[in-house]
Amino acid sequence: MWKKLENLYELHQHISGAVGAKDLFNLIIEQQLHEKEPDKLDEEFKKRFGVENFSELIKNSPKEAEKTLYEKFCKFEDTILTDTNEFRNKITARYGFSFYVTSNPKIRRKISKQICETFYEQGIKYLELRAVSFKPGITSEDTPWDQLSESVYGMIDAKDNLPGFDFSYIIGIARHHFVDKDNKPDENKIKHAENILRFLVKKLEKNDDIAQYVLGIDATDKEVLPPRYLKNIFEIAIESGLIPVPHAGENFKSIEEGIQNIYEYIDILEAKRIGHALAACVDPRKYLGKNDEYGKLYTKSRVEKIIELQDDLIKYMKERSIVVETCPTSNIITLGLKSYEEHPIRRFLDSGVNVVICSDSSGIYGITLKDEIKNIAVAQNFSLAELEKVLENSRKYSLKNLVS
Ligand SMILES: [Zn+2]
Repeated sequence: MWKKLENLYELHQHISGAVGAKDLFNLIIEQQLHEKEPDKLDEEFKKRFGVENFSELIKNSPKEAEKTLYEKFCKFEDTILTDTNEFRNKITARYGFSFYVTSNPKIRRKISKQICETFYEQGIKYLELRAVSFKPGITSEDTPWDQLSESVYGMIDAKDNLPGFDFSYIIGIARHHFVDKDNKPDENKIKHAENILRFLVKKLEKNDDIAQYVLGIDATDKEVLPPRYLKNIFEIAIESGLIPVPHAGENFKSIEEGIQNIYEYIDILEAKRIGHALAACVDPRKYLGKNDEYGKLYTKSRVEKIIELQDDLIKYMKERSIVVETCPTSNIITLGLKSYEEHPIRRFLDSGVNVVICSDSSGIYGITLKDEIKNIAVAQNFSLAELEKVLENSRKYSLKNLVS
């Protein structure tokens, strides 16, 4: 059965989540962060991992420093499925630190090349990489372009050397950047993002060598901004040929709101694939007696109503041929589950919703796509036909295939 796990397609992978500890350490050294901005590096490292004077440690004993980073960044086997809260905090710390080390456009080319090579070694033939391209407050419009173009050039470098390898790139928007401190939509920030996206689209029109690989638009992070506020941004993207593949129903404040978000991304923003879609499949009975993030209790009648809403949504997703990007390890951590057996993917499989399996942030979770597929397939008793379907979906619904 596992012989099928060759020439895999990975459709959901974040650049800042894909880099492992070893590469991260090399990137610190290469950028000389410990020499050029020791205070900043120390602050970032302490904030995330609680260790002081990291730059001194690098100068005095690079081997020891590398080991420290490895232990902070990669050691979590002990907690991965036993203490999800602690694990979630560790994951957030890793994202933050990785983002700090990898965000300079000057090294993006090298990073994205490295990621492609690592994935290729792990049996991946086609990779869709995504990254948050811009945030409010940036003054130079060239920064997001540099970051995007350098990332794509790096992937082209890799493709030139890896037989049979191909890729696409997805432009990302982080929703929490577009709300004010009370989580209310900030029209000015949204307008600013629209302008930057227009600028990027114009650049892409003039740079076909890059544009041919930039095929998707994503919205990611906490679902604090109702999808309808992204309508203009998505319209600009769609008009220029990008396909919407947003995260939705993942980091929701209530299950109903997660469900509503999935509807809006499909209905108003024309999403073709949805990242995670946990609100559609999670078992609401597990929430009975608990509060949502608004402090409202999940009562028995509320839970029953949610099951009906989910059934309707699943039917709607199936009718529209929406594809769900399921990321098993990431999902069980988000949902606070204890095992892959508890993952609610079966609800999609049994209802005929198209699912693809992805690894989300393989460097941060310390996992490979192959392991993700194996873990979930074993835990959920995939039939051979189900495994084949899931693998075929990744090919069929890859952006490369969807645009052609
Ligand atoms: Zn993701």
